[in-house]
Amino acid sequence: MAGGVVTDTAASRVPGHARARLRLGERLAAAGISDERVIAAVTQVPRHRFVDEALATHAYEDAALPIGHGQTISQPYTVARMTAALLAPGCCSTVLEIGTGSGYQTAVLAALVRRVYSVERLAVLWQRAEARLRELRCRNVRLRYGDGALGWQEYAPFDGILITAAANGVPRQLAAQLAPGGRMVLPLNGQDGQLLVRLTRTSVGFRHEVLEPVTFVPLLGGVA
Ligand code: SAH
Repeated sequence: MAGGVVTDTAASRVPGHARARLRLGERLAAAGISDERVIAAVTQVPRHRFVDEALATHAYEDAALPIGHGQTISQPYTVARMTAALLAPGCCSTVLEIGTGSGYQTAVLAALVRRVYSVERLAVLWQRAEARLRELRCRNVRLRYGDGALGWQEYAPFDGILITAAANGVPRQLAAQLAPGGRMVLPLNGQDGQLLVRLTRTSVGFRHEVLEPVTFVPLLGGVA
């Protein structure tokens, strides 16, 4: 794998978690995730460390779980699907994630690409994710507290941009921070609910592909 190493000393002492992760990887493959890099990353990242201890026994079920403040850690299938949609083929060296939340998706990306930048608008979640990713020695990640709709100009352009909250339209400033050939994967609100969409920056503009229906918390403005 190209990115940083996410090790889990706790899971290696508790083989139950490692086994549960392998089973989760198998379930995701059966559910149609064909990118082996992504399956390998999911079986490597200790999801139980990204949720409250009381929920740790549910961490390897394929379900979204609450992380406080009305937010959720995304369902593993959705994390895998979005990661695979962003990466194939040959993408990416640098990725910007909007909506760090628990930091789980960040850690999955960090196992696969050279550098991950992630922005979160809720201070409490940002601080917790920062501490967690440090504990897990996820060194190729940089987190920021702020409004992700503005992107992170200092490190632009990005080969990939992943938004983990549903937007009403493609945030303009984020589209502008996408490198030529780069991809953005995001949930967009539509008349019949949310759809996962992939934009690819081409020489003449953006190619737009609709992937599948999804359910995400809303992308909100400002910070809190
Ligand atoms: N990727 C996360 C999913 C978290 S849910 C995980 O794996 O846990 C979506 C997150 O997006 C929430 O934490 C929410 O606070 C954050 N968010 C919503 N609007 C945002 C914005 N404009 N900028 C940055 N983060 C935002």
